[in-house]
Amino acid sequence: MTVRLRSALDGLPSYAPGRNVPGAVKLASNELSFPTLPSVAEAIGAHAAQGATGGLNRYPDNAANLLAEQLAALAGAPRENLVVGGGSVALCHQIAEITVDRGDEVIYGWRSFETYPIVTGLMGGRAMQIPVTAAQELDLAAMADAVTDRTRLIFVCTPNNPTGTAVRTDQLTTLLDAVPEDVLVVVDEAYREFDRDPESPNGVQLALTRPNVLALRTLSKAYGLAGLRVGYAVGPLDVVTALRRVAIPFAVNSLAQVAALAALEHGAEFVPRWEQVVAERDRVSIALRGFGFEVPPSQANFVWLPLAEEATRFAAHCETHRVIVRPFADAAGGVRVSIGSPEENDQFLAAAGSYPG
Ligand code: PMP
Repeated sequence: MTVRLRSALDGLPSYAPGRNVPGAVKLASNELSFPTLPSVAEAIGAHAAQGATGGLNRYPDNAANLLAEQLAALAGAPRENLVVGGGSVALCHQIAEITVDRGDEVIYGWRSFETYPIVTGLMGGRAMQIPVTAAQELDLAAMADAVTDRTRLIFVCTPNNPTGTAVRTDQLTTLLDAVPEDVLVVVDEAYREFDRDPESPNGVQLALTRPNVLALRTLSKAYGLAGLRVGYAVGPLDVVTALRRVAIPFAVNSLAQVAALAALEHGAEFVPRWEQVVAERDRVSIALRGFGFEVPPSQANFVWLPLAEEATRFAAHCETHRVIVRPFADAAGGVRVSIGSPEENDQFLAAAGSYPG
C-alpha cells in the first residue's frame, strides 16, 4: 500500500525555478542584479544579534504590523485593507484557497505567471487559459467573454510575466465593468516599478474603489528581496480578512520583516537602480530587434522572445555562452531573459547575436 494522495495532484504542473549554474550569469528569475543595500544587511544583522527578549528565539509578529503600516503608506492604502504574505506567490495560493471550489473556473491569460495553473489545479478548479494576442498582450476582451456562472477568479498580470507587455487602464476598467462583482479580479503588479507607460493602471486604486479587485505586489523584484519572501495584497476588507484567515501562521519571518522595513526606509536608493534596469531593458530590446528577433515592448525587468518550441535550442545556445535564461518550450512559449547588470546584458547579447537560428 502507498499513501493515497489527493487526485488534484495528478497532472499538476510543478513550479520550475530558474536554474543556478556555477560560473554562469543567471538571467532566469527576474531578480534585481544589484547587491543588497548596506542598510538592509545591517538591519538583518542587528536583529539577529538581539538578546533573548526580542531576538530570533521569538516568533515574528504574525501580522507584520510595522511593515504593513509602511507598505500601506507606500501604496496609498488604509492599513486594514492590506495583508502581508510570504512572497506574493504565497498570496496566490491563499487567493485560490478563498475563492475556488472544485469545478470552479479560473481565468487568466496564457502565457502568464506559471503559479496560476498550479493554484487552480490544487483547488480542483478549471483553468480557462486565454491566449495572448499576436502582439503578446493579454486579451482582456476575450477574458471577459470567457466569464461564466462558474467563474470565481480572474488573474490579470500586468506587466505580464513572461511576455512583458502591460495592459492599459481603459482596457482593464472595461473588463472590470463587464465582470460580475462576485468574481474576484486579481491585478498582479509584481513588476510595476519598471512600468513606464502612463496608460498603465494602478491596481491599488482600483482595489480601493471596487468590491472585487485585489492588487498584488512584491518586494522580491524592485526592492531586491527575492531571497526573503515578502509580498502584499490590497483589497476590500472581506477579501483581505479571508486571506488572513487562510495564511500559514508566521509566514513572514522576522528577518524578512526588519529587512523589508529597512528597504522601504531607504526606498529612494532603489530609484536609480530601477532607472538603470529600464534603460538596459530598452537597450537590450533594440539590440535584439537588430539581430532580427521579435521582441514585444516590455514594461518589466525582462524581455520576451516568442520563439515557441525553439526556446530550448536558444536557451542551450545561451548556456554555451555561460548565460542562463528561462525557456518555455511549447506553442505559446518562448524565452524570457531577465535584465541584469550592463556587463551581464552584454554577455547575453553576445550569445543572442551569435545564435545560428
Ligand atoms: N507574480 C508574478 C507575476 C511573478 O512573476 C512572481 C515571481 N516570479 C510572483 C508573483 C511571485 O513573487 P514573490 O513570491 O517572490 O513575491
